[in-house]
Amino acid sequence: MFFGADPLYLLLVTPALLLAGWAQSRIMSAYREGSRYRASSGVTGAQAAQVVMQEGGVRGVAIEPVAGQLTDHYDPSHKVLRLSAGNYQEDSLAAVGVAAHEAGHAIQDATHYPLLVVRNLMVPLAGLGSNASMLLLIGGIALQWPALMYVAIALFSLAVLFQVVNLPVEFNASRRARAMLQESGLVSPEEDVVVGKVLNAAAMTYVAATLTGVAQLAYFILRSGALNRGGRGGDDRTA
Ligand SMILES: [Zn+2]
Repeated sequence: MFFGADPLYLLLVTPALLLAGWAQSRIMSAYREGSRYRASSGVTGAQAAQVVMQEGGVRGVAIEPVAGQLTDHYDPSHKVLRLSAGNYQEDSLAAVGVAAHEAGHAIQDATHYPLLVVRNLMVPLAGLGSNASMLLLIGGIALQWPALMYVAIALFSLAVLFQVVNLPVEFNASRRARAMLQESGLVSPEEDVVVGKVLNAAAMTYVAATLTGVAQLAYFILRSGALNRGGRGGDDRTA
């Protein structure tokens, strides 16, 4: 890769990438473990999501199965909660936990949880930022054009800011899910420990991705500064 050969990039970003790899393996193992335990209440993921949304005062949100593994998400624009086929129909603690987490997002939407509102407003900007910034950055470095690099860094900052705003939204959805699952009697306090492991492991993948973004941003800022200083140094020598 382009930046991979730079020792500064390796120094700043590698620890975050290692953390991301560790978080990824941890969510897979936590999910596998949670999938082995049947919820004693016998509810499926879809039924748990239904109960959690009902208790949370959510009306008019459909629950649909969707293809893939861990593809579960709440779609605020279409008011649909989509659960991966396994989590939709299975009655494991992992399925119930993930489904309840997505229902937590539906509750955030229905109650206009401020950080979710901000996050949703940022979606188009963040998408633009992460796609365009890399191209502009590589162009800026190749052409030794600082202005282009600053625009790229500003765009990339938006994408990182989106990840930062998203973190409390994710933690809040899990907190709501676990509280509602216990209040409604779908999950016992002992079972909540297993659900908590799955949801915390999932949250850790978001934390690791955010740290990777912050580390990359720090690298880009440092590199663009070095480029600038190098340019000025050259001027000094010729003056
Ligand atoms: Zn979530």
